[in-house]
Amino acid sequence: MPYSYDSENLFAKILRGEIPCDKVHETQHSLAFRDIAPKAPDHVLVVPKGAYVNFDDFCRHAPDAEIVDLMRMTGEVCKALGVEDKGFRAIANAGQHGLQEVPHFHLHILAGKSLGPILDRSILNG
Ligand code: AMP
Repeated sequence: MPYSYDSENLFAKILRGEIPCDKVHETQHSLAFRDIAPKAPDHVLVVPKGAYVNFDDFCRHAPDAEIVDLMRMTGEVCKALGVEDKGFRAIANAGQHGLQEVPHFHLHILAGKSLGPILDRSILNG
């Protein structure tokens, strides 16, 4: 079944300027802003301006120019955060099992401290 996009989701409202955000970077097709409840000293969300529900939807349906734009901008965000030395983590939650809260594709960029194992062992064994 194709994904159905809810244009009233929180990030759609941010993209329309109806809700403010702490902008880090903006390009023709993408926007990066700080997470309102950061899980690391640096926690930036990178979102496409187009209407895509999750990473899978974006990868399958976005035009090449939008995909390239988002990836290049993620590189710029990483550079601005200065992650080359200590590293970072990029996460894309999707759907029910991925515990995605906001149904507009976004990439979490987390940096500034050691982030621990990627998944809790209890989840892997459960
Ligand atoms: P996810 O669970 O992957 O959908 O992540 C949604 C993220 O959006 C969470 O980390 C929230 O803290 C973040 N968030 C929610 N509302 C806002 C907002 N108004 N501005 C920035 N980030 C937000």
